[in-house]
Amino acid sequence: MSIPDKHKKSYNSLKSWYSESNPSERNELVELIIIGSGTGTPSLRRGSPGLVVLSDSTKLLMDSGPGALRKMLEVGITYQDPDLLLYTHIHPDHVSDLVPILFACKYADLPRKKDLLCAGGPGFKSYFEKLNGVYGHWIAPQSYQLTVKEIAQEGLAYRDLKILSKPMAHISESAGYRIEFKDGKSMAVSGDTDYCQNIIDLGFEVDLLVLECSFPDGKKVEGHLTPSLAGRIALESRCKKLLLTHLYPVCDQFDIVGQCKKIYQGEIILGEDLLRIKS
Ligand SMILES: [Zn+2]
Ligand SMILES: [Zn+2]
Repeated sequence: MSIPDKHKKSYNSLKSWYSESNPSERNELVELIIIGSGTGTPSLRRGSPGLVVLSDSTKLLMDSGPGALRKMLEVGITYQDPDLLLYTHIHPDHVSDLVPILFACKYADLPRKKDLLCAGGPGFKSYFEKLNGVYGHWIAPQSYQLTVKEIAQEGLAYRDLKILSKPMAHISESAGYRIEFKDGKSMAVSGDTDYCQNIIDLGFEVDLLVLECSFPDGKKVEGHLTPSLAGRIALESRCKKLLLTHLYPVCDQFDIVGQCKKIYQGEIILGEDLLRIKS
């Protein structure tokens, strides 16, 4: 029996990305790819959270909810590729593919070789130690260096990226991030949050503000945003462009962008799986 073309393609892309040795050949632009624009509630339209950020030196994966590892293949990104895994919090819809990623890195035919930094907000190291307690050598790196970190408020410098972090209004472990690139561009990502000053601060005059937008106006749930609250944060942060993601299925029955536009008149992008945004 022959391998269907579709499957050959993903295996070939796995191999070609594996052999790519110089990430700077990819492009000079910062690019963001939405791996999943949904939540923990299953949806055929929207996968669980995952964002890939490609700069000229770094491939970053922010959050990896269930299915993210497989969905990444659709844009040619494998467990070999991210240099940095960054987690906003440890709710299962944001973190549950971390174990499959680490397990895949041990695949004997194509083991991961390059270093990996895995970072999150407060409590992330203790969460990781618990995973180690459960999975032990099944997820322990053999062929590469793994560093696990909590990003403190003073931030993290990683290659050409400067990453700042602040607690979000969601759970005590949740962190939002602002990433500044060498070329002066910047983006901020809320992860899950309710309205708070910290996300406005992180998003101050950023080129791209990525906000969760879990529920439509009138259906707000504590710890999450609605379109008009996301619009208020965008307005107050004076961001240049707003991307709404982390959309529960109910959002698709409402005009989310229209609701947000009543508050924020800048450019608003509604997240979709595999959408690519170049700076
Ligand atoms: Zn979530
Ligand atoms: Zn959450």
